[in-house]
Amino acid sequence: MSEQARIDCLAFAQDSGVLESVVAVRDFTRLCESLADSTGEIHYRIEAGLKKSGCAFMRLEASGQLQLQCQRCMQAFGWYVATSSHVFVAHDEAELDAWDRQAEGLEEAVLADSQFDWFAWLEDEILLTLPIAPIHLADACPIPDQPLLPVRRPNPFAALATLKQQHKLKS
Ligand SMILES: [Zn+2]
Repeated sequence: MSEQARIDCLAFAQDSGVLESVVAVRDFTRLCESLADSTGEIHYRIEAGLKKSGCAFMRLEASGQLQLQCQRCMQAFGWYVATSSHVFVAHDEAELDAWDRQAEGLEEAVLADSQFDWFAWLEDEILLTLPIAPIHLADACPIPDQPLLPVRRPNPFAALATLKQQHKLKS
């Protein structure tokens, strides 16, 4: 998969490129480490283009059903994931430094890469949406809600997810 998962970001944006397909969950090696099992598939769409200002961007959308393991009863349950990300593609370091996220309404910026691994990006974005401690909805879990829940460890991605949420609210 990884050999075909490379694109030249800027050329892709100039061509208004679109990648759209379905990939089996089992192909996401890192994601599978956090799942109860690797059944299911993810539908994704990555499109790129140029803003009126000439600024290159890429937009990613992904959705699908994952099997998470409930941390209370340890059984698998289906969890629907839907995520999107919108990034500015900077030509060089200077442009990256000068990037004004407010002006373009984009959430993040990446440096242009002629060998950009979009598959890793897709997997990262899905990983960011996973709950820290997956638990069945209250009435779906065979074990009743106990006052003593497992201690939640700080997740390094939680801050980033919050940041992204804030930018979404602002834009
Ligand atoms: Zn449960």
